[in-house]
Parts: sequence; structure tokens; C-alpha cells
Amino acid sequence: MNPFRRARALYRFRQLVIRRWGGLGIIGVAILLLHGIFRDLSSGKSTPGIGVLIATVAVVGLLGGQLGAFLRAGGRIRALRREPPENGNDKADGSAEFDAGGVLLAFSAVALQATGGPGSPLYPLFYALIAFLVLFHRPPIGAALVSLALLLETAVCVAAGLPIPGETWVFHAGFIVLFALLYLLFVQSEIARQRREHRVRLLAEIHRSREEARDFRLITSQLSIDSRGRSRAEEQEKLAQGAVETLHQALFYSLELLKKSLDLYTCVLLWLDESGEHLSIKELATDSELIHERQLPIDAGALGSVVKQRQALYLRDPKPGHLPYYDGPEPIGAFLAVPVLEEGHLRGLLCADRRASDTVAARPFEARDELLLVGATRQIVRQVQSERVFAAVERSKYEHERFYRASELLNRALTPDQVFATAFEAARAFVDFDFAAITLYDRASRRHTVAAATGDGAAEVMGLCYSDNAGLVAMVVKNRHYLPAGGELRSAKEPFVFTKKVKLPSMASLVVLPLVCADEAIGSFTLASRRPHRFAKDRREMLGVIANQVAVSTKNAEMYRAMENLATTDGLTGLINHRTFQERLAVLLSRAERHQQRLAVLLTDIDHFKKINDAYGHPTGDAVLRRVAAVCLGEVRKIDLAARYGGEEFAIVLDGTELAGARLLAERIRAEVAAQSFTPANEASSPSEKLLFSCTLSLGIACYPEDGKDAKTLIAHADQSLYNAKDGGRNRSVAWRDLGARSAIRAVK
Ligand code: GH3
Ligand code: MG
Ligand code: MG
Repeated sequence: MNPFRRARALYRFRQLVIRRWGGLGIIGVAILLLHGIFRDLSSGKSTPGIGVLIATVAVVGLLGGQLGAFLRAGGRIRALRREPPENGNDKADGSAEFDAGGVLLAFSAVALQATGGPGSPLYPLFYALIAFLVLFHRPPIGAALVSLALLLETAVCVAAGLPIPGETWVFHAGFIVLFALLYLLFVQSEIARQRREHRVRLLAEIHRSREEARDFRLITSQLSIDSRGRSRAEEQEKLAQGAVETLHQALFYSLELLKKSLDLYTCVLLWLDESGEHLSIKELATDSELIHERQLPIDAGALGSVVKQRQALYLRDPKPGHLPYYDGPEPIGAFLAVPVLEEGHLRGLLCADRRASDTVAARPFEARDELLLVGATRQIVRQVQSERVFAAVERSKYEHERFYRASELLNRALTPDQVFATAFEAARAFVDFDFAAITLYDRASRRHTVAAATGDGAAEVMGLCYSDNAGLVAMVVKNRHYLPAGGELRSAKEPFVFTKKVKLPSMASLVVLPLVCADEAIGSFTLASRRPHRFAKDRREMLGVIANQVAVSTKNAEMYRAMENLATTDGLTGLINHRTFQERLAVLLSRAERHQQRLAVLLTDIDHFKKINDAYGHPTGDAVLRRVAAVCLGEVRKIDLAARYGGEEFAIVLDGTELAGARLLAERIRAEVAAQSFTPANEASSPSEKLLFSCTLSLGIACYPEDGKDAKTLIAHADQSLYNAKDGGRNRSVAWRDLGARSAIRAVK
């Protein structure tokens, strides 16, 4: 053997032994167990051969080494603790985990065999070990270890001469699997329980913070979390949470200062909740461990009289029930409570107490102390107020930012639909609404059309078109002033919004704003909400700005659309013009090439059109052109093209159509045109006496890819076919393929 290869093979083997000695040891133990070595060793029935002894020592050495390595190397012990791998080498880590558990199992199996084989009293320990391993390993490793345990169990049974699967084996194996499953179940349910608890705690914490923000009036009580306004509400909540945190810090500092300077046992700030029926501890500085943070009814203990009379209360040696914020007996000797008032409204109570010791009575409160406490309540109210102002400023800053961003978006909207969608989005940035709609007013027909709607009941009004009436929208457009006054519905008998027939879901707040552009109301912007007081003055003003912008943007979008139409369509017939036709044909051709699809090009020319012009005049000729264009457009599908190609020539492109289909359509158009009857435009006689005339059409057809692979060739071939149709007597359609050799000759000419 090549010495280099031998060295490499040896090296590989050594690496394998080093890396896999745990596994090798386990396999060795299994083999020794099968031979019942340990049974013989323990019973001393026979002296094992020297080979068996060496093998035993080697295997036990391997296992011992592996276990020693685990205990020495912290990194390896990690495997037992189920921590995530540091270097992401999951696979290697998995085998290390397995080895660690496997070695423990192997040692236990040895112990089982040595202490009586299948009848060993150590079996309960073996089961416990399995449960332990399942508990601390990932499920796949756990499953592998359970399989190993079954294998070792089999070896022990075989060595004892028991049948597999005999009664004992089935019994033991059943227990192994049962323990593993039970613990797995236990672990999973424990994890689920802890997750649930964590979630509940988190939600409670968020809820508490929200409640506090409400109690301090940092957020308005109307601000509810509804599904659509979520991001806005969340932002507000975040702001409020920050404010609550700041407040707590400031309050705690104030109370701590009072406690130190007045030598208090407890100084506690109780705050009225939003309903005004409960007091809760907002902040406290105390040496007591018996304070409990439940909500207290406002008339609890001695507090009731302070709440009722809004005056300070001083008690000497209060009874335990007098101070409801204590959960157990505290030897309080003096108690002083002062109301916290904000502009005459009771917000809470500031309570202070002093403790009596066994020998000395509590120091009584003096007038000076009371003055200090009252001063502190003013300070507390100022702190709350300034946080409230700060939160309001932050809120309006945030709302204004969103408002400006939204109006910027409105400026960029190009189509009316984009404008409407952006308008709803813009309004959503600073008001909560459940329904919104935009109507457009056509001054000529005096009709209102609902151009866009969103929210509850939007489907019923979308596309609604109605004449001027006494509804709110019509009134708003007429007077160019928002309705109803105050943005609130005063009674259920309020006038209808669109028409009498259309009923909107019942709403508490409603505002209809005019869309005014250049002193003219072009439509209306309606917003409605189920909750009251949604469209107060400041909101209405911002909505007014949005409405004006919607008006200007709608006008712009309409102009943009008109300009685009002008550039792409033919004024007389309304079909796309020659330039646009060439552009779209190129797009269709490249798509047909990419997807290996077919496509047909038709060119048409009205027969003897000059004569029509000459006989009845140009306006009549124009009317004929319009009618023929309408016939062409009516016969093709939406995906096809129909264009005015030249003077009285039209071009048609049929997407995904081959010759047979194209021929059918050409014939249909030809027959339809021939069936039309026209009247001269300037004929003054009554309709019955009018001179009727008809006209015919000739058509040429060329197909991609057979008749040409590019636009130029296809059009040239369709044109030559058309020429051929004229040549052949007019009022007919001819395909390039019909021409065969003739066309080739003509093409050469
Ligand atoms: P043919 O059957 O061979 O096609 O005979 P024709 O008289 O139709 O001949 P041609 O196709 O060359 O006629 C084109 C005429 O179409 C010339 C022009 O006066 C007329 N035309 C082109 N554009 C317009 C248009 O916009 N309005 C009107 N009224 N006539 C137009
Ligand atoms: Mg012509
Ligand atoms: Mg013609």
C-alpha cells in the first residue's frame, strides 16, 4: 500500500475514533451486553477470557473518557442542557448531545446486567434516566436515545436468554416508551402553559399602561382600537406609554421627597379612574410591605369623606380599616389626606401617614405639614398637565406629519382612481371613520355620481348616479359649504346623504365636504363614523384641506386623461391613432414571439369613398367613417386593436388568432358594413323620404408568423392583399396566403 494513503487512512481512523469514541463505546457496550459479560462478571460464575477482559476494559475506558470529556469541557456539557449551538453547527452538536445521553444509557444498561439482568431492581432508575434525557433533549435526539435504550434493553434480554419479543421485553420496552412519551407530553404542555402565561402578563401590562394613560387623560377616552385605525392608535399608545413612564418617575421623586422630609411611613398618591368610582395607587413611597395595589372604592375607609368634602382629613390613631391601602395591621399613629384638585375637579388623593413604635407615639401632623402636602398636590397636577400638553403636542405633530405626507401623495396621483384612494388614505391618517365616499357632479346633466366609496355600506352606493335632490351631497355641492353643522347628526330624522332610497348604516358622526376647485364645487367628500364627536372643528379644517386637494387633483387627473386621449386616439372616430397603433402592434408582436403565439393583421379600405364625399359632402363622409369605425370596434375583443390607420383605412390586430379566425372576423365586418344604410347629413327632407345609401369595405389579411415576422412585412403583405381585394372587384377580404405565386410576382414588381 502506498505509504501516504496508509498514513491518511490511519489519520482518518484516528479522527473517527476521537470524534466517535462515544458512539464506538456504546456499540462496544451493546456487543458486550449481548454476550452477557457483565452478568458473568458480577456473579463470578466464570472467569472471562483475557480477550473479553481487554475488550471490557477498552469499552469502559472509552465510555469513561467520553464522560470525563463532558464533565471537563463546559461546551460539551451544554449539550445536556439543550442550549442553542454557538456556532450554528447543529449537526455536530446533535451527535454530541446523542453521545452524552447514549453514554449514560450504556452505563445504566451495564449496571442493569450486572445487578441481575431483566430482573434487576435498578430498572426504575433506568426509566427515570430516559425521562430525564427526553426532558432535556430536542425531540429528534430524544427519539434516537429512546431507540438506543430499546436496543440496549434487547441486548440485556437476549443475553439473559429471554425471547424477543417476549413478555419481559414487551413489558420493559413498553415502560421505556411510556416514560418517554409522558415526559414529552409534560414538557410540551409546560412550554405551552408558560407561553400562555407570558402572553397574558404582557397583555395585562399593556392594558394597565393604557388605563393609566386614560386616567391621566393622556389619551382621549374616545380613542378606541378599531381594526382599521390600528397603526394610528398604536402610535398614540406608544406616545402615551412614554408619557406615563415619565410621569411615574416624576411622581415617585415627589413622593420620596415628601416621605423623607416629613418623616413619613407611607406617602401614597391615589388616583380616580375614568369612571370616577374607584381609586387606585398611582405611585407610592413606603417602608411598609403590606400595601396592596387593588382598586379601592372611593368611599373605602377614611377616604370617602375626603372625596365627598374635598377637604383635608387628619386622623390620630386611625383604626386598621380606615386606611384601605394597607392589607394588614400597621401601627399607624397619624394619617393625613389631602384632595388632588385640577380646576375644581377631584383627580385623586395624596395620603401620608406616620408609624407609632412600641414606645413612642407617632409624631402628629401639623398645619405646616398639611400646607406642604397641598403644595405637593399642585405640583403633581402640574406634572400631569405638562405631560398631557406634551402628549397632545406630540400627537398633533404626528398627525400633521401624516397629513402633509398624505397631501403630498395626493399631488402625485395621476388617475382619478388614484386620487380617490389616496384621499381615503389621507383622511385615515388623522380621523377614524367607518364609511367614506367621493361623488362627482356633472354640471351639464346636473347629476351626481358616487365615484369611490370605502367602508361599511360602500358596495351599496358605489357607482350610484342620481339627479340633484334635497340630500346632503346635493346641498353641499350647491352651497359649497360642509354639512351637517358641527359634524354631528342631531337626530335620526337628519336629511339623507345621497338619495332617499339609499340607506347608510347608522352613524353617529357625519360630515359632507364640498370638493371646490376654482370656485366651483365639482363633487363631495363624505365621511361617517359610528362613534360620536369624530369630526370636530380641527378635524374638519384638515379634512377641508384634503377635500380641496382632492378637487384640484381630480381636475388635474381628468386633464391628464384628456391629454393622454388626445395624444393616442383619433378625434373623429375615437379609435387609437396611427402612431399608437404602431407602438401597440410592436408590443403585441414581441409578446407573440416570446410566447410563440399567433397574431393576425387586417387592413381595411372603404370602397369608392371619394364618390361618397363627392356625392354627399365631407360631413356625410365623416359620418360614414365614424359608423365603419364603430362596426370594427364592435366586432373585435377587448384584447385586440382597432385603429384609424389613414384617411379611410382602418387597421385591426387580432391577438392569438390564426388565418381561419381572422378570415371569419374580416367577413363579419365586411358583411356588417355592407348591411349599414346611411343618410346624407345635409338632406333636409323628412326621414322617410331621405335618400339612403350604403357602402362596402375591402380587407387584406396577413398572419404572424407565416406571412411575416415583423410589423413592416406584415403590414406590407396585408396592404398587398387589400390591393388584391380591390383589384378583384372590391367588397371582399383577401389573405396574403390566398395570393400564392401571384403575390410573389407582384412583390418582385
Ligand atoms: P378605392 O375603392 O379604390 O379605395 O377608392 P377610393 O375612392 O376610396 O380611393 P381612396 O381610398 O384613395 O380614397 C381616399 C379618400 O378618402 C380621399 C379623401 O378625400 C377621403 N378621405 C380621407 N380622409 C377623410 C376624412 O377624414 N373625411 C372624409 N370625409 N374623407 C376623407
Ligand atoms: Mg384609401
Ligand atoms: Mg378607399
